[in-house]
Amino acid sequence: MPRRFGAFGGAYVPETLVPALAELERAWAESRTDLAFRAEHRRLSRTYAGRPTPLYFARRLTRRAGGAQIWLKREDLVHGGAHKLNNALGQGLLARRMGKPRLVAETGAGQHGVATAMVGAALGLETVVYMGEVDMARQRPNVERMRLLGARVVPVTTGSRTLKDAINAALRDWIATVRTTHYLLGSAVGPHPFPSIVAEFQSVIGREIRHQSRAAFGRLPDLAVACVGGGSNAIGTFHPLLRTEVELLGVEARGPRGSPHGADSLSRGRPGILHGAFTYVLQGPDGQVAPTESISAGLDYPGVGPEHAWLKESGRVAYRSVADDGALAAFRWLAEDEGILPALEPAHALYAAVGEARRRPSRERIVVTLSGRGDKDLEVVLGAARSRA
Ligand SMILES: *Cc1c(COP(=O)(O)O)cnc(C)c1O
Repeated sequence: MPRRFGAFGGAYVPETLVPALAELERAWAESRTDLAFRAEHRRLSRTYAGRPTPLYFARRLTRRAGGAQIWLKREDLVHGGAHKLNNALGQGLLARRMGKPRLVAETGAGQHGVATAMVGAALGLETVVYMGEVDMARQRPNVERMRLLGARVVPVTTGSRTLKDAINAALRDWIATVRTTHYLLGSAVGPHPFPSIVAEFQSVIGREIRHQSRAAFGRLPDLAVACVGGGSNAIGTFHPLLRTEVELLGVEARGPRGSPHGADSLSRGRPGILHGAFTYVLQGPDGQVAPTESISAGLDYPGVGPEHAWLKESGRVAYRSVADDGALAAFRWLAEDEGILPALEPAHALYAAVGEARRRPSRERIVVTLSGRGDKDLEVVLGAARSRA
């Protein structure tokens, strides 16, 4: 596995973490050829996580768009309600393989914290989740969920008290406890080998899309669309399709219309170092990390996985941003047309996909990764509806 994606990636970390990253890379490399590990991973993916997830033809949404067919890859049906468990399960098994009894994780909206807490419980690993104080207040139900699942949730009171500060706190914990602890990073970000490990565990999404689209309509789709926060569900969708003709589109969060603080790092960021990787970062004139805002907590991150930075520069993947109001519109379309409440993160991707469907002929097929379900977002959606009324 490459340490770099073009100029991007790398491992800009303190000395103390270098051996831990090397140990992780070794364990991961060994696990790939370990038949027992792979069988256990496959067994839990089926019987615990609920894989494979279906590929669903969104007939009425397609009619609304009036063009290409829209198909949904239903990661919202994974146990826990999002794709996050694909990665948490894989890394939890790696932690157990390395003989580490303790997991630390960061969480923003709480979705990755919940996935890690579930895996910690199922595999019998102690779990500590760092979460910014601001996010804890915004995402109460997920804090309660993590606690019920047996995890300890530690409030982070530094910086903007959100996701990026929680990552820093988790990294600090890991530096101090590295012999007994695995840092279960939640997206395709951070120092090597994390972006590659997360991409591999999420690539089950794209592999299933390959098989299921051939079964459903006899060929690969013309276009695959996924939302990009740190970029894990998108890289998992794209990886198995990179060496095909399929067009790929990543969708970032532009934030409130007219706001200077959107979370679309690939559109408006500049190359810099964040959380141990060289990648696109939203930053001020002196390189300090810029504040971001988005209606979807899962996309509200000032950086992006380094492989996406490379895929953008190489031109293989197109990236675009969608604002809060677009995501809210797509949320309502999917609810009313298909009886599915999407998470606000993939609602961004869905909005872009409907736009693409509209200007493409009906013989074309678009697959959108529906990375999670929207139950967690009801309060935000209802609040937005109230403030419009
Ligand atoms: C966390 C989350 C995201 C964003 O994370 P990526 O690593 O970019 O995939 C997207 N959708 C849902 C439902 C999430 O919970």
